[in-house]
Amino acid sequence: MSMNERYEPHSIEARWQERWASAGIFQAGRRPGAEKRYVLEMFPYPSGAMHMGHGRVYTIGDALARYLRMRGYDVLHPIGFDALGLPAENAAIKDGRHPAERTRENIVAFRAEMKSLGYGFDWDREVVTADPEYYRWNQWFFVKMLERGIVYRRQGKANWCTGCQTVIANEQVVDDRCERCESPVVEKVIPEWAFRITAFAQDLLDGLDGLKEWPDRITTMQRNWIGRSEGAEVDFAVQGSGDAIKVFTTRVDTIYGCTYVVLAPEHPLVAKVTAPARKAEVDAFVARMRKTDAAERTGESAPKEGVFTGAHAVNPYTGEAVPVWIANFVLAEYGTGAVMSVPAHDQRDFEFAKKYGLPIRVVIQPSTGDRIPGPDALAAATTEDGVLDASGPFSGLPSAEARRRMSAHAKEKGFGQPTVRWHLRDWGFSRQRYWGTPIPIIYCEEHGAVPVPEKDLPVVLPPQAIITGTGEPPLAKVPEFVNTTCPVCGKPARREVETMDTFVDSSWYYARYLSPKDATRPFDPEAARRWLPVDVYVGGPEHAVMHLLYFRFWHRVMRQLGLVFEDEPARRLVTQGIVNGPDGRKMSKRWGNVVAPGPMVRKYGADTLRLFILFAAPPEKDIDWSDEQVDGLFRFLARVWRIFHARQESFAAPEAALAQASGDFLELRRRTHRTIQRVTDAFEKELKFNTGIAALMELVNALYQLEPRSDADRAAVREALVAVATLLSPFAPHAAEELWHEVLGPAARDRLLAAEPWPAFDPALVAADTVTIAVQVNGKLRGEVQAAISAGEADVRALAEADEKVKTHLAGKTIRKVVFVPKRLVNFVVG
Ligand SMILES: [Zn+2]
Ligand SMILES: [Zn+2]
Repeated sequence: MSMNERYEPHSIEARWQERWASAGIFQAGRRPGAEKRYVLEMFPYPSGAMHMGHGRVYTIGDALARYLRMRGYDVLHPIGFDALGLPAENAAIKDGRHPAERTRENIVAFRAEMKSLGYGFDWDREVVTADPEYYRWNQWFFVKMLERGIVYRRQGKANWCTGCQTVIANEQVVDDRCERCESPVVEKVIPEWAFRITAFAQDLLDGLDGLKEWPDRITTMQRNWIGRSEGAEVDFAVQGSGDAIKVFTTRVDTIYGCTYVVLAPEHPLVAKVTAPARKAEVDAFVARMRKTDAAERTGESAPKEGVFTGAHAVNPYTGEAVPVWIANFVLAEYGTGAVMSVPAHDQRDFEFAKKYGLPIRVVIQPSTGDRIPGPDALAAATTEDGVLDASGPFSGLPSAEARRRMSAHAKEKGFGQPTVRWHLRDWGFSRQRYWGTPIPIIYCEEHGAVPVPEKDLPVVLPPQAIITGTGEPPLAKVPEFVNTTCPVCGKPARREVETMDTFVDSSWYYARYLSPKDATRPFDPEAARRWLPVDVYVGGPEHAVMHLLYFRFWHRVMRQLGLVFEDEPARRLVTQGIVNGPDGRKMSKRWGNVVAPGPMVRKYGADTLRLFILFAAPPEKDIDWSDEQVDGLFRFLARVWRIFHARQESFAAPEAALAQASGDFLELRRRTHRTIQRVTDAFEKELKFNTGIAALMELVNALYQLEPRSDADRAAVREALVAVATLLSPFAPHAAEELWHEVLGPAARDRLLAAEPWPAFDPALVAADTVTIAVQVNGKLRGEVQAAISAGEADVRALAEADEKVKTHLAGKTIRKVVFVPKRLVNFVVG
């Protein structure tokens, strides 16, 4: 039987997908004795069809998982759906359909598309967060965390999105607008539930040092977001009153240069300390600031403005009284709502001092030994650390040491203390929306907020809720849901009507995959021992400070609960770039440049799309969709197909003949083994699938150059064909599987390439492919040349004659004879 001449992806892809599935080769746990690898991609939010961003992240993860499986690891590569949350609810409001119904449909479509791309997921472990069997464990974690004080109720100033009609996280506010719907976000004080993530701040920070295989920019963003700053609190006593202004500073080493202090206009002391003569002006300024929003007031470009209160406060280090001002750039809720101003060493203070004619005093000199002449010579503040000057007993100390000593001094004298401050805030997670996990709390008149007992979990979302997107939470309008009895006293009580932030769902799903059907616990800790941490996590860099921080937090909670044992949830993080439209702009309906995976699979087949995604650039780089490149990759696969077809007579070549391969066919063998090495490197080192695919293209080109004539030639060609099919397998698995079966024939009938071992290369064949050849003239060594190992006499002679040293010995002489020993020597006999 001879193979089909044409490459027709649609006639092969579905067939292999079925074979893989029925053989169960993607199920984790098939190789209990082997080392494990857990490859995970961030699970999708199934709103509408798959988009190209999904196509990219799952293709990257799948290529890697397929490779690792062929390397002999026991591979866990699961998938699920992040199905609760606002987008589905907002879509439901728009088209009047229930989010559950819509989500179910989307998942069916999504699953089919993923299967059509040939992704080797362990579908038996699929997790859907909208399933009560999943979110009951969110509720279980809530109760456990409530018991441990990690969950608490607070009166919070919350970001209220006027469009979504709910509280959203700080991280979702961009320029005072909602990241999702772009409506204005306003501040609202409401009771809310929060996770005490700040209790883990130091551990989350320390853990970043161990994440050596995460991109630096992600760990840097987390470090900044956690935002630890060491500093000191110092009290400035207000003259003529018993009050003190508490300031926080990270630069207590500059305090001898403090020439004024500034309160936020909202600071409670403002009214108290303002001198009667200054009252009218101060009140007017405060009133104006109340009306201006915080971002506008404190923005980089906002002009610095303020007014003097008429009061003075005493710098406890110098005993000097300095004026007390209020200014737009200090906010009551940040730090202590008061700052000490050191114009010589802080640029904002410098500009303010210049504007209002306040004194400037230099107290830090460069550690280089240069001296700043005086404040008048300063064009800007000098903000670097240095050596203290004009700083009383601390003069001469380097900044870092001075900070330690000076904050200790404040503590000793009772006017301050060393302090650590964090940018990180607790995670307020209650939402006034429907499509989320119900918070398992019952409010009793007598007993207050009582957690739902474990045996009564899950608290299921009532399907009959009316979702309008406005007014009180939808659950409040479902009496059958709201009205219940108190678990303590049995009297009538009301259920919490708020639901959890969707980021709760994605904080621990990677662990639920370990035993997704477990009805007695969130997951099996023994499975966690086997599979965690995730070895490679693939997803978008936009999750740097939300999901990727939350799941590190949740992992720590699970460790406290004895469920997991590793420090961190994921060892290596791969952040993939964006797939832009053909015009280089972000794909958007607005630009009409959206290309979706589904239609591309129908047009070209899955393998071409996968190759395009992997070949266009390394995973972390952005790529632009290109019809030409996609066509080119389809043609490449067709070209691969044709060379297999054209070399069918090699399929039966005896392997024993390989050792006799010589000349161009020995060179082909070397190229085959070097290609194995290059493709292996593309997986083992930095992920550079593009260079691996490029190496395969070169090998295919080389095959086109050769016409095998002997058994030895054909054996070398067969070896190359088997390598091409095998190495292509993680990238274009369907074509690879088909071609491999063509070459191997009946010997492979019951085998699958996707479960075969990854090929090893022969180091001898990969070794440097050039040799050093000695050049003699009349038997005397006159030089040497580097030549290809397969180079013939003509090539070597030409190289030798071009050598400068050899040239001088040949000049003016007649070459009578040339003796050539391949790979060793060339001797010119001259007279
Ligand atoms: Zn919104
Ligand atoms: Zn009660």
